[in-house]
Amino acid sequence: MARREGIDPEAAKEEIFAYCKRKGALAVGVADLETLERIAPPGHRPTDLMPKVKSVIALGVGGQTQGAWALPAKALGYFGSTESRAYTIAYGCAFFIENRFGIRSIYCPPDMDTEAGPRVPLQSLKLHAEVAGIGARSFAGDILLHPDFGYMYFASVFTELELPPDEPMQDNPCPAPSCVSLYRKTGQTPCMKFCPVQCLSGEIDEDGNQALMRYDMAACAEMTQQFEAVPSMIADAVQARDSVEREDALFDADNKILWYKMSVGSGGLLAQCFECMRVCPIATQAPQADPVRRFEFAEADGE
Ligand code: SF4
Ligand code: SF4
Repeated sequence: MARREGIDPEAAKEEIFAYCKRKGALAVGVADLETLERIAPPGHRPTDLMPKVKSVIALGVGGQTQGAWALPAKALGYFGSTESRAYTIAYGCAFFIENRFGIRSIYCPPDMDTEAGPRVPLQSLKLHAEVAGIGARSFAGDILLHPDFGYMYFASVFTELELPPDEPMQDNPCPAPSCVSLYRKTGQTPCMKFCPVQCLSGEIDEDGNQALMRYDMAACAEMTQQFEAVPSMIADAVQARDSVEREDALFDADNKILWYKMSVGSGGLLAQCFECMRVCPIATQAPQADPVRRFEFAEADGE
């Protein structure tokens, strides 16, 4: 791989963004590396993964169609289906940079740190996206929201190519005006009110901005991180007093669904609940929140 000489960082950034958008990314940004290095905890800084990294590129793809938000909870739980598209674009982008500029790049693994357990990722893709200015932290457990695209799935690319960084968003679309008015009447925003395990709470200040956000991650994880239930089910089976109890532990209807999800490699084993997003006006009603709205927007824009 021969490094191309005389690379113009601004022009390179434009080419990389154009590649990602051509492949389906809705938003792309470059996070300020120094900020990431300062905020991310030791062991999870970009340089811990790629020592000579110079730039972290974050990208987001669209989530659910409008119809998905009207599904019953048990079906909606299977609908986190576009994150793999984000990863595919990031993977392609890393190849694109190496091929075009001859500079080492990687698709940042979205996976858990094998030394830190199932709730600690190698890197926070959320932090990358937030610092890159393609999402802002919401009351819904810090899920990032975008004023135009609503709820997205994120992926990151690390590269040794130096690119000019973007700024984080200046305005947070959360809480939406309708959420502020519900909060003023009831003390809760829609995501807080409809979370099935009541793991969200917070305060809105006089200007209608977030003042405090509380998120009980353990309660949310118990509801959504179903892969964590598998070892306890196996432990119950091992410790069963007799074969009937063992059969119950392994083949109880709820538990059999976990085997099913594992056998089909379903994303429904992790982070699938969506009830906070189902009631979120930004996630569901942002101007380009779904493919039909994006198409109408592009037509109106003459694209
Ligand atoms: S994903 Fe579900 S459990 Fe977690 S915060 Fe949202 S509504 Fe609550
Ligand atoms: S429903 Fe959405 S916009 Fe409203 S407070 Fe919750 S996350 Fe923010």
